[in-house]
Amino acid sequence: MKFVYDFTEGNKDLKDLLGGKGANLAEMTNLGLPVPPGFTITTEACKVYLGSGEEPVALRDEVSDHLTALEQRMGKKLGQADDPLLVSVRSGAKFSMPGMMDTVLNIGLSDKSVQGLAKQAGDERFAWDSYRRLIQMFGKTVLGVDGDLFEDALDAAKKAKKVAVDTELEAADLKKLVTKFKKIVKTEAGRDFPQDPREQMDLAIKAVFDSWNGDRAKLYRRQERIPHDLGTAVNICSMVFGNLGPDSGTGVAFTRDPASGHQGVYGDYLQNAQGEDVVAGIRNTVPLAELERIDKTSYDRLMQIMETLENHYKDLCDIEFTIERGQLWMLQTRVGKRTAGAAFRIATQLVDQGLIDEAEALQRVTGAQLAQLMFPRFDEKAKVEQVGRGIAASPGAAVGKAVFDSYTAVKWSRSGEKVILVRRETNPDDLDGMIAAEGILTSRGGKTSHAAVVARGMGKTCVCGAEELEVDTKRRRMTVPGGQVVEEGDLISIDGSSGKVYLGEVPVVPSPVVEYFEGRMHAGADDADELVEAVHRIMAFADRKRRLRVRANADNAEDALRARRFGAQGIGLCRTEHMFLGDRRELVERLILADTETEREEALKELLPLQKTDFVELFEAMDGLPVTVRLLDPPLHEFLPDITELSVRVALAEARQEPHENELRLLQAVHRLHEQNPMLGLRGVRLGLVIPGLFAMQVRAIAEAAAERKNAKGDPRAEIMIPLVGTVQELEIVREEADRVIAEVEAATGTELKLAIGTMIELPRAALTAGQIAEAAEFFSFGTNDLTQTVWGFSRDDVEASFFTSYLEKGIFGVSPFETIDKDGVGKLVRDAAKAGRATRPDLKLGVCGEHGGDPESVHFFHEAGLDYVSCSPFRIPVARLEAGRAAS
Ligand code: PEP
Ligand code: MG
Repeated sequence: MKFVYDFTEGNKDLKDLLGGKGANLAEMTNLGLPVPPGFTITTEACKVYLGSGEEPVALRDEVSDHLTALEQRMGKKLGQADDPLLVSVRSGAKFSMPGMMDTVLNIGLSDKSVQGLAKQAGDERFAWDSYRRLIQMFGKTVLGVDGDLFEDALDAAKKAKKVAVDTELEAADLKKLVTKFKKIVKTEAGRDFPQDPREQMDLAIKAVFDSWNGDRAKLYRRQERIPHDLGTAVNICSMVFGNLGPDSGTGVAFTRDPASGHQGVYGDYLQNAQGEDVVAGIRNTVPLAELERIDKTSYDRLMQIMETLENHYKDLCDIEFTIERGQLWMLQTRVGKRTAGAAFRIATQLVDQGLIDEAEALQRVTGAQLAQLMFPRFDEKAKVEQVGRGIAASPGAAVGKAVFDSYTAVKWSRSGEKVILVRRETNPDDLDGMIAAEGILTSRGGKTSHAAVVARGMGKTCVCGAEELEVDTKRRRMTVPGGQVVEEGDLISIDGSSGKVYLGEVPVVPSPVVEYFEGRMHAGADDADELVEAVHRIMAFADRKRRLRVRANADNAEDALRARRFGAQGIGLCRTEHMFLGDRRELVERLILADTETEREEALKELLPLQKTDFVELFEAMDGLPVTVRLLDPPLHEFLPDITELSVRVALAEARQEPHENELRLLQAVHRLHEQNPMLGLRGVRLGLVIPGLFAMQVRAIAEAAAERKNAKGDPRAEIMIPLVGTVQELEIVREEADRVIAEVEAATGTELKLAIGTMIELPRAALTAGQIAEAAEFFSFGTNDLTQTVWGFSRDDVEASFFTSYLEKGIFGVSPFETIDKDGVGKLVRDAAKAGRATRPDLKLGVCGEHGGDPESVHFFHEAGLDYVSCSPFRIPVARLEAGRAAS
């Protein structure tokens, strides 16, 4: 195996092997762009090292060969005393992990070669500054010395000289600082700073390998769901210097604006400086356009290179460059990060430029970006007072009065106040407060902290880890940078998409993208904004490409109509239990408690017309499209009074010697029906089998509603779905009764209804016996919420708030299996059941109606598993359409 590639040997498609940075440096080298020569050690070498603790045997020799070739090319040797070749050693994994791993610059400088560099550069200050930087970076990242010790020494040197910035230190000061830095290394690391340049290089390579498993890197990978076994490549690149005088400098550039997507000159330049100076913000940069005035030749060359890169990568690129005494060098390029809005705009712009086709445009955007564009946002024109910034943990724009404990959040929200729950960090005790609040703000914790995980689960706006805010929950206040104090009750605004925190009430505006989906803003109209145009076009690309159909989970006409506007092609799940709440609850109570057949029939008779009206409205709203109506599913006790409350009522009545026969009867029934574990109890199809007439009434209501719509010249397409089936016998019994009822309605109304009857697959046994179940089902809809619950044995109502945070922190999973389908476990059942079902009944229709139906990654899975449709809440329909299109292209 070959472990080292010269920049001339690689290309941009070798990111697995050479990492992103190495692959792109090779690509630029081969495009003939000015890249300082160098070579890349592969991720394979890193993997061997991480696996065995030893570098591969062949690595040392291969590095030597490449180093010799590099030295010959540069006409000088690494660390040569009179004219040293210096190199940088930089990490570069397949996925960019900004600032997570290590870099060492100026390798090759020593007590001797620093003199040579000074002579060659004609600049003693520069040479000693470079040496000082090497010892500092090397000491910190390779030898593990506390970086603050160097910073403190640097500050002390500046103080002693009474200057404010590093650049005011002279050669003699820096020379002294080098002595001081070497002493720090000796004391802290217990060894001398290595004077042998090759030893410096080898140690730095090892440190880069090790940094792959640093705490920061591991955490970052977990958060970003980057696999832990990829390893990092190491790039050894000859140094060029932007700090050799006014004809030198360094900068970053974008081939178009990463915020808007517009083409133009975007970037920053810093004269007479090295890369880290830009990052550290030591001096102010100037806009890139200024470079034209400073160094027109380099500027023109840079513009030319940017055009070459964009045409070559067919995408927005970001670039790091350095100018060394009038010579332009490219240090890095990559396809640049961009905002969600820019991603859509750029994708369509590139299609218009003929650089990419529609299928490729779909790969340039994601459902997560579309979801981000659909949240309400703060009015950009509003005057704001930003006081902090944390991690954008769960998107949205939330405004409310600051409260510092859960109890107050609940109390205030009950009295109609909008509140933001502010905590240092949250724990499961804060759950009530989080539910009551408009948004959650914490000063500690990352993307997988309790606050972040729970808020995302609830779809609630959350900013976490806003460290500049000092939250004092005891005194119910927080202090913002600058000392201003936010007291309980003061208004604040938080932006979960940017992580920004504002004082006061920032006005919120609806997203133009939602206005577009709602039909209140039209693409092609004079006032439609560019973003809406772009979204409109990308959605059309997706709709043309996708195989999966997209339906909605909706229980009423209003939601159904919205879903239709958003592009739903039917209803995949109408949960009928929602129709039994409010006034009708009492009727259900009577049904459950009926002692005689007459009483039961009375209750059913009253429920029937109400149910029928619901369905007529729904079928009308979805005219011409399929509507899957699920028969009653939840545990019965959900329709009965609370057991404790009722016991109190009975006890009080007893004590007061008041009549309480009804209450007592009710209490006895509630006791009789009480279950320790209702989610695994009397629910779903079991209800239909135990309560005579219940399912028949629902089927009759569906059939009569469909007949009524037909007679009114409508086109109802109802499907009847039986929940929580575990064996085909259950389904057969319900089916027989349903077929009988439908035939009766058909005969009575003189209409042919063609109502399909199918089942949910939401229990492992149903999935495992799908072949048999398909004998009695015309369709399957995978209920992945219950299926996840029963496959994992996780209570879907409890776990996300209890131990999931700790599971996520431990990396047991990167995301809750209730959010993204667990492909290996639950997913395997889905795949196998789909196959077995279709083996029995080749035209079996297959869908999914669990929450996963609107989750981007899961949509791709369902596409691959061969399902016919996904069904999700109305707001997620555009995301599902987009992802279905992406999955198919
Ligand atoms: C499911 O279990 O996935 C499902 C859609 O049903 P519910 O969420 O209503 O239990
Ligand atoms: Mg279910």
